Amino acid sequence: ESFHDVDMGEIIMGNITLSRYTRPTPVQKHAIPIIKSKRDLMACAQTGSGKTAAFLLPVLSQIYTDGPGDALQQYPISLVLAPTRELALQIYDEARKFAYRSRVRPCVVYGGADIGQQIRDLERGCHLLVATPGRLVDMMERGKIGLDYCNYLVLDEADRMLDMGFEPQIRRIVEQDTMPPKGIRQTMMFSATFPKEIQILARDFLEDYIFLAV
Ligand code: AMP
Repeated sequence: ESFHDVDMGEIIMGNITLSRYTRPTPVQKHAIPIIKSKRDLMACAQTGSGKTAAFLLPVLSQIYTDGPGDALQQYPISLVLAPTRELALQIYDEARKFAYRSRVRPCVVYGGADIGQQIRDLERGCHLLVATPGRLVDMMERGKIGLDYCNYLVLDEADRMLDMGFEPQIRRIVEQDTMPPKGIRQTMMFSATFPKEIQILARDFLEDYIFLAV
């Protein structure tokens, strides 16, 4: 078992080596080929399972393949929603590691920090946006972010986002007119648990999805 079983391109492979990940964890081993094959995914995985790299590696690899265009600017190709500032920052740090030496630019936005600075950072261009739902809705309302080209959507720790009361914000983001519809975009949901509310979200947001429990 190795990361080389799936070809994610030279840059990603080099960055995996640099980060000293030698063997994929179970969720990485199973989720990476599913995401690379462009299927929607509902994955039940705990914190600490390596789920962050399980979605970042194939999504970043796909962004390289699609070719990150300079014209996209404030229109991220990929969006990762996370419940807390801490988790958003962790995902962002890992994304920067894997995007090293590439033209792919990750950004992060979260509540409780200066929105002006986050807006200026986005204006420098953003291919992969990591966001907490409330702050992203705020940015949308100010017209500072467009999701028209968001071809890859990840909901991380979906159960925690619902527990924190973010369902209205998540639905505003995912169900807005300009977001590519399911079946067009690729959507991946990660959750530690799979209660009724998550099943409903999976039904609404995912198209013909693969269910993975590790
Ligand atoms: P996560 O579940 O994504 O929060 O990852 C938990 C921790 O495991 C993080 O510190 C990762 O950097 C680390 N990690 C993830 N995948 C691997 C891997 N394949 N090999 C070694 N460490 C890993």
